Parts: sequence; C-alpha cells; structure tokens
Amino acid sequence: MFNWENVLSYMNGGGPVPPRRVEKSLVEWKKILTSEQFYVTRQKGTERPHTGELCSFYEPGKYACVCCSTELFDSSLKFDSGTGWPSFSEPVADDVIQYESDTTYGQRVEVLCNICDAHLGHVFPDGPPPTGVRFCINSESLKFVE
Ligand SMILES: [Zn+2]
Repeated sequence: MFNWENVLSYMNGGGPVPPRRVEKSLVEWKKILTSEQFYVTRQKGTERPHTGELCSFYEPGKYACVCCSTELFDSSLKFDSGTGWPSFSEPVADDVIQYESDTTYGQRVEVLCNICDAHLGHVFPDGPPPTGVRFCINSESLKFVE
C-alpha cells in the first residue's frame, strides 16, 4: 500500500527508476505547450486555486502528463480536497513520479513527472484513507484521457 513513508524514502533515496525518458530543450517544450502549461511544468509555476478546468471534473478515466503523455493518475483515486487543485491519493504506478525536497515555502515535497521532469505540484501527508497522502496537482500539468 502506497503511503507517506514511500514519498519520504523516494525523496531521500533518489526515487524510482523511470520506465522511459523524454528529454527536450526549453525551446522545444515552448513550441508544443501553451504558455500556461509551459509556466507550470517547465518554470515550476502554480495556477491560481479553483481556476483549473480539472479541479471539479470527476469523469472516469486517466490523467496523463501534458508534456509527455505518460499516464500518472486515475480518476478512481481523485478526490475533492477543497483546496482548488486536482487532488489524488496515489499515482497509477510508483515509477512515474519523482519526488524532490522544496524549501521555497517551508519544507514541502515537490512532485515531478519521472519521465520528462515536468513540475506537477506538491504532495502532503494529510490525504484521506487508505493512503493518507494528498497529491496536489496543477490542472495545467495534466490532460484527461478517457
Ligand atoms: Zn511527463
């Protein structure tokens, strides 16, 4: 069962080995992303809460990385955290997410796509059972796949 201990051990231990890698220059990413997607995923931006279109969207399906199309989250593990950002209790697979220490505003754990290094959001130890983990993800970094 995925839990907060997994997050901390991945953050401190270098993280899971990615199943594949997608690497592009910032110039190349800029060509294929909208300015909002580029700002969030490549410049570690944060969209304003309650503005993302996937925030109150609960159709069944998967959520893929907007940059490299790798499936990252599943609608069955999405929940309404009330924060204004799409929230998930677990990724679809351990090896698609990378965890980095972020001390910009106190101690937080940044979440990135393990395949292309896109900034996704942050993860917190206050999610609902059974994982107790809350992935707080920007809508701009995800695309819905039916
Ligand atoms: Zn990606």
